[in-house]
Amino acid sequence: MSKLTFERPIIQRVNAGLPSKYGIPRRLEPISHIDGSSIRSLLEEFGSPLFVLSEQTIRKTYREAYRAFSSRYPNVQFSWSYKTNYLNAVCNIFHQEGAWAEVVSGFEYHKALENGVPGELIIFNGPDKSIEDLKLAISNNSLIHIDHFDELYDIIHLSREMNERPKVAIRVNMDVGIYPIWDRFGFNYENGEAWDAINRVMASKTLDLIGLHTHIGTYILSTEAYRIAAGKLASLAVKLEKKYGLALKYIDMGGGFASKNTLRGAYYPGTDTAPSFDDFAEAITSGLMSSEIKPDHLPMLVLETGRALIDEAGYLAGTVLATKRLSDGRRATIIDAGVNLLFTSFWYDHDIRPVEIVSDQTEDTTLYGPLCMNIDVVRGNLMFPLLKKGDHYVIRRVGAYNNTQWLQFITFRPNVVMLDMKGKPHLIRRRESLETINSQEEIPDHLKNFNL
Ligand SMILES: *Cc1c(COP(=O)(O)O)cnc(C)c1O
Repeated sequence: MSKLTFERPIIQRVNAGLPSKYGIPRRLEPISHIDGSSIRSLLEEFGSPLFVLSEQTIRKTYREAYRAFSSRYPNVQFSWSYKTNYLNAVCNIFHQEGAWAEVVSGFEYHKALENGVPGELIIFNGPDKSIEDLKLAISNNSLIHIDHFDELYDIIHLSREMNERPKVAIRVNMDVGIYPIWDRFGFNYENGEAWDAINRVMASKTLDLIGLHTHIGTYILSTEAYRIAAGKLASLAVKLEKKYGLALKYIDMGGGFASKNTLRGAYYPGTDTAPSFDDFAEAITSGLMSSEIKPDHLPMLVLETGRALIDEAGYLAGTVLATKRLSDGRRATIIDAGVNLLFTSFWYDHDIRPVEIVSDQTEDTTLYGPLCMNIDVVRGNLMFPLLKKGDHYVIRRVGAYNNTQWLQFITFRPNVVMLDMKGKPHLIRRRESLETINSQEEIPDHLKNFNL
């Protein structure tokens, strides 16, 4: 019989904190496998740290969302928000499932084209579209969502110059009871600017107004806000039909559904507070169907859901580098992934678990990343078991925004693998190397040599 390992006793200060509705949190369950694939073996094969994405979870989540909307509304179309995660393998899963592409820059537009998305199924959003971008989008028949008057006039000008009829939608911002209002994108509803923009598009006679768009914000927990937004876009559609006899092809409700992550400092976990796809679908479709839009003219409902479709599918696994005690007695654990890889740690309290079965004892711990920077705090404090150097951890729900907002800083960005439907790993983005970084640089001749 093997000797039991010694577990040192710890003295813990009892904080008079509030329990959650489940009582005082207890043992942190380890996560050893993702889709049947051992995290420890993945780290051995692909290095540490490592992003792991689950194709199973992506498809399952997408189908759940699609079902929620399509069972309530006759004509539903998702469009994958590239900036949320534009790794090509990820985008292509969504395209295989039937989603169009939603892009917000020339770079993303080209990425979608190269992935094989037909131009006319690319929605081009955002405040920054160059004349070159617009020309390409117009000649590809893409769906251009106009953000401001300068862009509107550029497009009118281009339509005449190119002798084309660009397909456009107006982005509308509005008061839906969530503050501060995201009024920096698009045209305002309440002050009449959106209606003004619509009239100018119609007056141009050279643009094809096919839709209305809004994106009310992100990580929205209120389904009511979407009902109000849908109602306001519907009322613009009705006005358009009355004045011009024009029936819009689509109403695009943007993204913004909260994922199941927990916001920093939130009292309840996101798994309890985030509304389901059914809840969001109920609110949006009721906003549209109870409007004055005639039933035989109901426009297609477009959704640009980002984080809620992909967060759950992403994991960041890695290795403990060291443990130490801070001068005030708190425990600190240093892990090999920092805030440069986990941008979302600035606003989420991520669910972080041990990979191996460890002690049941947990202690108030600060989790630091490997960067030589004071800001590199992955979790300020959490009750965490006493991991040792070489033990492994895994961070859940990191699929949204991390693989696009990560920074190459001090270390290389690591490998990303995708587990296919059978749980088999495929490398989908290679770890950077010194050559990757240096290939971008030039050294002027007079700086090439030095003698020390
Ligand atoms: C970022 C963005 C989305 C996706 O937002 P999520 O909050 O990730 O769902 C959708 N549409 C537009 C226009 C965006 O800018």
